[in-house]
Parts: sequence; C-alpha cells; structure tokens
Amino acid sequence: MSAIILDGKAIAADIMADLKEEAARLKSQGCYPQLVVILVGEDPASHVYVGRKEKGCAEIGIKSQTIMMDAGIREEDLLKQLQDLNQRPDVHGILVQLPLPRHISTDKILTAIDPKKDVDGFHPVNRGKLMAGESCLLPCTPAGVQEILKRSGINPEGKHVVVVGRSMIVGMPFAVMMMQKKPWANATVTLCHTGTRDLVSYTKTADILVVAAGRPKTITAEMVMPGAVVIDVGTNRVDAPEATRGYRLTGDVDFETVRHIAGAITPVPGGVGPMTIVMLLKNTLQAAEASISQ
Ligand code: NAP
Repeated sequence: MSAIILDGKAIAADIMADLKEEAARLKSQGCYPQLVVILVGEDPASHVYVGRKEKGCAEIGIKSQTIMMDAGIREEDLLKQLQDLNQRPDVHGILVQLPLPRHISTDKILTAIDPKKDVDGFHPVNRGKLMAGESCLLPCTPAGVQEILKRSGINPEGKHVVVVGRSMIVGMPFAVMMMQKKPWANATVTLCHTGTRDLVSYTKTADILVVAAGRPKTITAEMVMPGAVVIDVGTNRVDAPEATRGYRLTGDVDFETVRHIAGAITPVPGGVGPMTIVMLLKNTLQAAEASISQ
C-alpha cells in the first residue's frame, strides 16, 4: 500500500486564487489591505521567511511593508513602533518575526500588538478566544493543517486525533481547534509531549496523527495505524553535503517507511509549510474585512 500524498503546495495555490479574488473585492470597496512585518536583527532564516511573506502579499495584490530594526534596538523603541502601527488605519495586519533577540521580551511584544491586527494569532486575547470557541484570528500553522484536512475531504469529526507536541504555536492550538464542537473538528483529541509514557500506544490508535515535535524520525512506521492520515508539521534541517545549500529539509515523520502504512500523508517540504503563509494572508484579509465592517 502507498499513501495518498496530501499536496500542500497545490492546496495553497488554490487558496491563493481565492484570496486574490477576496483582495480585489475589498479593494473595490475602497479597503486596501496592508500587512506590516517587523524584522529585528540579521537572522538569515527570518529574512527568508519575511521575503516569502512579502512575495505572497504581492501575489494576491495586497500591500506589504517590512520594517527592519537593528538587533540592538531597545524594547521600548519596538513597543513604540507597535503603538504607532496599532493606530494606523491603513495597516490591517502586524507581525513581529520571531525569534527576537534575548534582551527583548517576546511575551511583552506579542501582547502589545492590537489583537484585531494580530495576524499570527499569538496575542493572549486571540488565544483566549480560541479556547472559548469564539471567532478570532487563528494561529497560521494549525489553521493550515485544518485547511489541508478540509480541502482533502478528511473530516476529523468523531475521529481520534493524536497531536505530538504541545507548543503554543502549533500543537496546543491545533488540539484545541480539533476538540471544538464545530465543522471540520469535533474530534476526540490526545495531546502527547515528552512527558508522555509509551508514545506509540497513543500514536498507534490515531485516525489522524499530527506531528509537531521538531525532531526527525519521531514517528516511524510501527507507530502508525494502517490507513491513518499523517500530517507532518516538522521542518528540520539535516546536513546533506551533496545538496547545494549543504542541508536538506526533513519532517518529524520517517516519510519513506510511513508512506507504506498510512492512508494519506503530507510530505516535507511541500506539505504544511506552504499553508502557513497562505493562512497569514487569509488572516490579513480577515482583519481588513473586519476593519470595514466595524
Ligand atoms: P517546539 O516549541 O520545540 O515544541 C515541540 C513539542 O514537541 C514540545 O511540546 C515537546 O514536548 C514535543 N516533543 C519533542 N520531542 C518529542 C518526542 N520525542 N515525543 C513527544 N513529544 C515530543 O516546536 P514547534 O515550534 O511546535 O515546532 C515543531 C516543529 O514544527 C519544528 O520542526 C518546526 O520547525 C516546525 N514548524 C513548522 C511550521 C511550518 O510552517 N511548516 C510552522 C511552525 C513550526 P515538551 O513540551 O514536553 O518539551
């Protein structure tokens, strides 16, 4: 048996076409959606991510601006910048690229963003609303995973969804989304982490297994129920001297063995990764739409 490959790249391209139309509709109503990204320091990976976000905005025809700040910037200067952006009616989405330098409190910065413009969905108000099942800006990666399931016709309702990893940006919010009494959710959820004893006893009973552990080969074939849906969020760089960049990307799932057991599986790269940016753009349009319907 060989699993169906859930092609995140193709799904993302379909959503981009929808978002382009949505952006055009907003512009026809006089609303020009704009995303502002703040990039502090010179982290090469962060620069790559921010470049992709700018490209995504251009592709769907919305404005983007990147504010570059020196790694040594004072916390209060960054807070002041956020206050200014919060006040600007032409700015609908604000994102501070993480990680931040150590001398800056990430919690303080994320909390300073207006929750209505918090397109990463990391503000405590949005996290609280998510817990309460209220409408809010959803964190992009978990929202992207749910969208992959939806667009592939895989309904989690009544299924056992096992999530490996409890970070605040992926595992925890995804588990919360899946347990809600809502369409494309309403699952029975198990959340595993490093404190979980006998991980395999849980993963083996998953109808849908979502892995966000940040370690290659966290999930191997014998840990997966035959026919299960496996979503690999992991994005790990492993040394590959033969590759031009000297590394290659791999997920948390041993793709080559698990693909023969699973019913459907996302690849890395080309699975969850492309969905994250698309959901960020979707959130920016959602924030812009909300700003005109207030
Ligand atoms: P994180 O903050 O490091 O959290 C990892 C979680 O996995 C923790 O809860 C940890 O448990 C758990 N874990 C680690 N090893 C485990 C094991 N062997 N068994 C059970 N649980 C284990 O990572 P993250 O930010 O959630 O990211 C996870 C992965 O997703 C990374 O590879 C990251 O690069 C990737 N990612 C991809 C995207 C995308 O767009 N594709 C977006 C975000 C993240 P404890 O809590 O007990 O430590």
